[in-house]
Amino acid sequence: MALREVRLLGDPILREKAAAVDGVDGALHTLIADMFETMYAEEGVGLAAPQIGISMRVIVVDPREDAVQPFAFINPEIIETSEETERDEEGCLSLPGLKDLVERPVRVVARGLDAEGRPKQIEAAGLLARILQHEVDHLNGVLFIDRVTPLKRRMLLKKWEKTKPERARGRA
Ligand code: ZN
Repeated sequence: MALREVRLLGDPILREKAAAVDGVDGALHTLIADMFETMYAEEGVGLAAPQIGISMRVIVVDPREDAVQPFAFINPEIIETSEETERDEEGCLSLPGLKDLVERPVRVVARGLDAEGRPKQIEAAGLLARILQHEVDHLNGVLFIDRVTPLKRRMLLKKWEKTKPERARGRA
């Protein structure tokens, strides 16, 4: 396993639509292991492959809730969303230091494949539903700052510019 570098806002790969995975093999298992290792090192609850520079439809998720085992999800799709929505705070490993309230459906049904290539369907609510929506957004080139009001987005981007020198120092 290896830690991979997390791509930050401004990296064009975060804006690409990721390609579907067409087969589960050893390389995919290595990618998934690296994604888990990177997510835990960064203290995240989810990570999408484009965030480590791989434009493929793979996510890993661990909401750190007793009832939910960490899992990888391949070619995940949100196939149902509740009408009921809620606002909760979101951040993103690709936008360190930025957080805001994002409104999303409370419950979703998602389907895709598990790490062995078997069909997998999940009904999720609350934090898990939010993580799934956030990570599937990444596979479509969408970031959480695209889901707040234009005014909020301007404020977040201003903060991002202001903290650029700190980030540069942190990575030197
Ligand atoms: Zn994210």
